[in-house]
Amino acid sequence: MNCSDPSQYEGHVVLFHGPGKPLAWQATQWSCPKVGEVLVQITHSAICRSDLHTHCGHRAVTTPTVLGHEIIGRVVALGAQAPEVDLRGHPIAVGDRVTWSIYAHCGRCPNCQAGWPQKCAKLFKYGHEPVAKDGQPSSGGMASYILLRPGTAILVLEPSLPDQYAVALNCAMATAAAVTRQGEVARRKDPVVVVMGGGYAGLSTVALCRAQGAGRVVVVETQRSLHARALSFGADAAFHPEDDSLKAWISDHSSGRGADQVMEMAGSSAAAQLGLDLLAVGGVLMLAGTVFPSPALALDPEALVRRCQIIKGMHNYAPEDLVLATEFLAHDGAELPWDSLHGGLFPLAESQAAFELALQLPGKRVILMP
Ligand SMILES: [Zn+2]
Ligand SMILES: [Zn+2]
Repeated sequence: MNCSDPSQYEGHVVLFHGPGKPLAWQATQWSCPKVGEVLVQITHSAICRSDLHTHCGHRAVTTPTVLGHEIIGRVVALGAQAPEVDLRGHPIAVGDRVTWSIYAHCGRCPNCQAGWPQKCAKLFKYGHEPVAKDGQPSSGGMASYILLRPGTAILVLEPSLPDQYAVALNCAMATAAAVTRQGEVARRKDPVVVVMGGGYAGLSTVALCRAQGAGRVVVVETQRSLHARALSFGADAAFHPEDDSLKAWISDHSSGRGADQVMEMAGSSAAAQLGLDLLAVGGVLMLAGTVFPSPALALDPEALVRRCQIIKGMHNYAPEDLVLATEFLAHDGAELPWDSLHGGLFPLAESQAAFELALQLPGKRVILMP
């Protein structure tokens, strides 16, 4: 325990009261970390696509809440019995710059035991929980501090990682790592991969697939202005979903087989439906983007059987995926043009302007600096 004066942890939160309502600036305070907790001063919090969906009313949340779950910060105090080491066995100390899993899990319930910590029976998700009018207890990124609960997977960041890249690790990039792992990219020989969506998670998926041995990677993106950027992240080609040349390209580059993996990161049933149509015999369709109510897919079970295909859903990720994403960003992926995914930096007090800009910059991250 190294915290005695709670008044030193005074700061602000930005309250979200519902779609169409202005974000509210609220003074609040944080107590010393209790047993197993870690208090972190937030340095950067990105506005993720799912925050925008909530802001626009596409996804229901109990309000008021403090949004923001792509967060990094510095450890300011450790509670009694707080974790002494991070996911990689690195000691956790006051002053360390850290990222952490988007959720806290119990480790003991049936889902945790079965290897699905993100579906824990006692799941606590940062940036998704309701708060009182005074902002207590805040657990989102649009705040000065955050208390990490027991069961949060913490990772000390390499000093070489720039803040504005590291901030997207614990949502967009870790989810991309989970999709790549579950899609078995590394276990197949030179697979032909289709990534639906050229946003942050989509391009992270492209880069990770490339690093894990994908033979060809093609991006399908409705906004043609984002196609050139997809190539700079390692895609061999980029198409609009309605381009006639898409199927011909995949056929030409797969000896007529089709795509070994389709990663749906765009959050579109139409993209998922198209992906099913593009799959090779034995292909895997990974669904990760549709995190809000979406139209059903048309599925021919006979075709699925005869073509030996797999459809998998992937929501969030396991702690190992956060490690995979962080090591990729620090090493193999360090030279990629991450700056092109950047929408700008705003002080926390200008959150409203930051959200308005983020809505106009699809495929880019706007970052708040509390
Ligand atoms: Zn997110
Ligand atoms: Zn659990």
